[in-house]
Amino acid sequence: MMNWMEKELAALAEQALERSLTSSAPVPGRPGYVMRGERMLLNLSSNDYLGLVGHPVIIEAMREALLIEGAGSGASRLVTGNRLPYRHLEEALAAWQKSEAALVFANGYAANVGVIQALAGRGDVVFSDQLNHASIVDGITLSRAEHARYRHNDMEHLRLLLNKHRDKRRKLIITDTIFSMDGDCAPLHELAALKQEYGAMLMVDEAHSGGIYGPRGEGLCHKLGLSDEVDVHMGTFSKSFGVYGAYVSGSHTLIRWLINKARPLIYSTALPPSLVSGISQALALVQADQWRRERLIAASRLFRSLLGKAGFEVGSGDSPIVPVIVGDNDTALRFSSALAEEGIAAVAIRPPTVPEGTARIRFSLSAVHTDEELSDAAASIRTIGVKLGVLKS
Ligand SMILES: *Cc1c(COP(=O)(O)O)cnc(C)c1O
Repeated sequence: MMNWMEKELAALAEQALERSLTSSAPVPGRPGYVMRGERMLLNLSSNDYLGLVGHPVIIEAMREALLIEGAGSGASRLVTGNRLPYRHLEEALAAWQKSEAALVFANGYAANVGVIQALAGRGDVVFSDQLNHASIVDGITLSRAEHARYRHNDMEHLRLLLNKHRDKRRKLIITDTIFSMDGDCAPLHELAALKQEYGAMLMVDEAHSGGIYGPRGEGLCHKLGLSDEVDVHMGTFSKSFGVYGAYVSGSHTLIRWLINKARPLIYSTALPPSLVSGISQALALVQADQWRRERLIAASRLFRSLLGKAGFEVGSGDSPIVPVIVGDNDTALRFSSALAEEGIAAVAIRPPTVPEGTARIRFSLSAVHTDEELSDAAASIRTIGVKLGVLKS
């Protein structure tokens, strides 16, 4: 009965597309590194952008709450799972985002799926960038609304689609602010203008910009002064915050609606209260530790310029996501293995996570990396690039 899986898996392996799980472990006292088996590797594949994962203040807050609140929340937030740490966190989130209200979700995937389903349904249309995160794509599919996919950051194409769907009941435009596999940013000014012109709702996913941009890490929309133009703000606690979970912020009405309609919130057990307490501490650190943002941006600029000088096309910008596109899947895998040999953990990203023919190594930086570690890494990356024929020598 299950033979078909073996066949399909063999076909995946044939195309260098099979995925597998590799165990890794933290290195005590060395936050920029990761253990793979017996080897310690420089971790250039983590989303712990601000280096908060092991922060003692966060861990202590979680430990204290664990002893008071217990291991689990015991029920959905709509039943008896809505424990006190939630209220503290959501008030702090709304104050941070300068929004009327905020709502915590179990993770970014659940937030996107829940919000999109709550805002759009049959007869509606969702305009979504071609490179948006998979959780947005799945949210649109589950919503049963029409999926109008526009070419990456192509505002002319979006306008064309907005015109085509002028008469639809509700219109929702969604974009990642920083694209997770490319590290470039969305044209938020233009998106805000189009949203106004066509009477659409605008939702942004700040998974890779929350904590990093804005005077207190509020995200890219705040940095650009556009937060009032955005109807639905979504971000995660799993990346810059170093913990787990996600939030949505916006108007009181939006949050009331989500409490009534967002299925992943309603039909799933609330996050453990200890985790929610840890997120509150992470939020305080994200706001206070400006130096982490500054260090991260400096590291990102340095790394981009080192790889650029080495001959790679890494684009411009200052986001901590720096992809090196190698094209075919097998080369990407060999690149990643060669990097591991040189003491660097950087995974190959292959379709369907990225479009066919654009397999890549996605480097992601952290505030904890030093200039020396980054320049040594760039030298190794260059050598491997030449050896594999990705770079001309
Ligand atoms: C990581 C990510 C998510 C999912 O967040 P999780 O908390 O990991 O479930 C959603 N959107 C984007 C853009 C992401 O990069």
